[in-house]
Amino acid sequence: MEVPKKIESKQLENLNQRIEDILLKEPQTEIECVAFIENANIIVKDAQALNLEGTKEVLRLQGYIAFIYCDLGKYDITEKKIYDILGAIRQQKLEHLEARCSLLLSAIYFEQGKFDETIKIGTKGIELYLKLKKPQNLAALFNNVAGAYLELGHYERALSFYYQALENSKQYGDATILGTISYNIIHCLLLQKRYDIVEKEFERFKRRIADNDQDKNMLVWLYISYCEFYYKTTNTKKTLEYAEKLRVLSKETKGHLHIVYAAWHNARIKNKLKFHKEAFVFALRILEYSLKSKSITKKLLAYLAIGSILCDDAENQDYYWKQSRLLDEFEGETIRVLKKAERLVEELNFTDKKIYVYNLLEKFYVQNKDFEKAYVYSVKTRQIEAYIYDIEKNDLVFRLQEEFNVQENQRKIDFQEQLLVHQKEINASLEFFAYRASHDMREPLKNIYSFAKILQNEREQVGEEDYKEILGFIIDCSNRLLVLTKDLLEYSRLGRIVSSTKIVPLKNIIQAVKSNLSEQINEVNAILKLEEEMPMIYVHESLLIQLFQNLISNALKFRNKDIQTIIEVSFFQEKDTVTYFVKDNGIGIEENKLKRIFEPFARLHHRKAYEGSGIGLTSCQKIVEQYGGQIWAESTIEKGSSFYFTFPNNQEEKTNENINCK
Ligand code: ADP
Repeated sequence: MEVPKKIESKQLENLNQRIEDILLKEPQTEIECVAFIENANIIVKDAQALNLEGTKEVLRLQGYIAFIYCDLGKYDITEKKIYDILGAIRQQKLEHLEARCSLLLSAIYFEQGKFDETIKIGTKGIELYLKLKKPQNLAALFNNVAGAYLELGHYERALSFYYQALENSKQYGDATILGTISYNIIHCLLLQKRYDIVEKEFERFKRRIADNDQDKNMLVWLYISYCEFYYKTTNTKKTLEYAEKLRVLSKETKGHLHIVYAAWHNARIKNKLKFHKEAFVFALRILEYSLKSKSITKKLLAYLAIGSILCDDAENQDYYWKQSRLLDEFEGETIRVLKKAERLVEELNFTDKKIYVYNLLEKFYVQNKDFEKAYVYSVKTRQIEAYIYDIEKNDLVFRLQEEFNVQENQRKIDFQEQLLVHQKEINASLEFFAYRASHDMREPLKNIYSFAKILQNEREQVGEEDYKEILGFIIDCSNRLLVLTKDLLEYSRLGRIVSSTKIVPLKNIIQAVKSNLSEQINEVNAILKLEEEMPMIYVHESLLIQLFQNLISNALKFRNKDIQTIIEVSFFQEKDTVTYFVKDNGIGIEENKLKRIFEPFARLHHRKAYEGSGIGLTSCQKIVEQYGGQIWAESTIEKGSSFYFTFPNNQEEKTNENINCK
């Protein structure tokens, strides 16, 4: 039956009045929230019965219900409720409401550790608010997106978003999150180890607090920043002082996040000072709060705090396990806590916190004398460091390109100059990375140390056989160290090209490689197939020799021992590029590992099966990228692998030009 127009408008008016009434008083306590949801749901149902559910007011109410669910920590329901109405909101172009939903979703995705989603929905929200010219919530959105970038290891990008968040919160007088953002900036700078800027940021932060009448919410964040800064710069006394200040103040402000941070910093510093039991009380507090707020991010903090204490005070295990029922799931085993943290960081890609977790695992395995496993984690740490470094590098280039687009005038000259400067910086820090990594190879050293200690202290008890075996271990470890340091050194030298570019026939390069590897080639009686005609290339000869030598020696190393080893070196030309390849009929590589093998220190086999450091292919990649090319592998297990790399075709042109000039 059609509802007459007059009645319909009366009903609509009535409904709108009810919505206005219910939205008048914001529910505060949990009971009020639950009651609000119940009443609001009745109104929504009534609206549906009257066929009026798509109106702006009803959608607003539904949005509000979702927001309240979020306050209650029921993220799944919040998400579902928002997605239920998002279609209608978009259809009716209720952009303000859509923007608020984006803000909320970005916040809950962040708490759940869904960082890619946070960035996606947050960026959309930013666009909407900018378009609406209603900038009140922009700061929070910029802050959420920045947070997600930070957790993914994009520090440079995170920082740029944090500064935008700061600008907005200052400009529009949004002091509530001004403190959070100021802290986040310092946190990010500390992760980047940019201590010189950190000091200036502290000054600015203090001025902001003064401008805001010493706002306590801001003060809490200043104390958190101090705790972190002093902890990183190993000033124990100051860390302790601020952790205590923080504890007291967070009791006053009662902010959930404040309390969690206070507990985290207190747990960390007390544990360091060996007041493990006191630390544990704080660690448990984090766990309780994380469960209350259903925040995965905080849960991870809790596992890290608990895991550190359990590792550092292993003798008192039993005491800790009895402290709370919340620990029952770990069945009294430290490793279960650490493994849970590991799963979280890996599944959700908490990039920076991976380092923290791997360090803990390494420590745990060293304590348990499982050096093999400890070594795996020390390598993983270095891989993450390299990965973060890589992101930084790409972000730098990304930022440069952005600037490049804006500065239309003089763009060419400016860009090239800047790129050159940054390239130098990149090379310098790459060398630094290799330098550090080589100093970081503590694992084999630790092993040597432990074995030597056994010989020193327990010489009497060690029989002749064991003695020989231990010496064997020491020699093994030393050998490994020698190989690693040699490879790293070569890798670090790649940045400093000593020879100059010249035109060389590819044939000569392969000839040089053949002669360098003649011993290995003859030993296995391998066949090296080459093209009759090989091109000339414009390169640094020594780099290209190294590139081919790494690939061919890998082909020899990973050969199929049951058949005749055949290695083919060839190339094909396309419009813009020349692709060279080294193909073997060796053991092959699993499809899903084909990308990983180019990462520093990545190796697919046990050391006992194949010697190596995992730097060879990383070096190849670096060489190829210096010429603006790409490198990749294709492979079938047990059939063989092919390594391809491209050089831009202008290499060829240059070659021809030069030949013509001759
Ligand atoms: P490594 O020093 O271990 O040889 P690389 O960086 O050269 O280090 O290679 C990384 C890993 O990639 C190797 O440990 C090996 O597992 C795999 N790999 C490289 N080349 C080949 C190949 N031709 N066939 C099969 N596996 C290979």
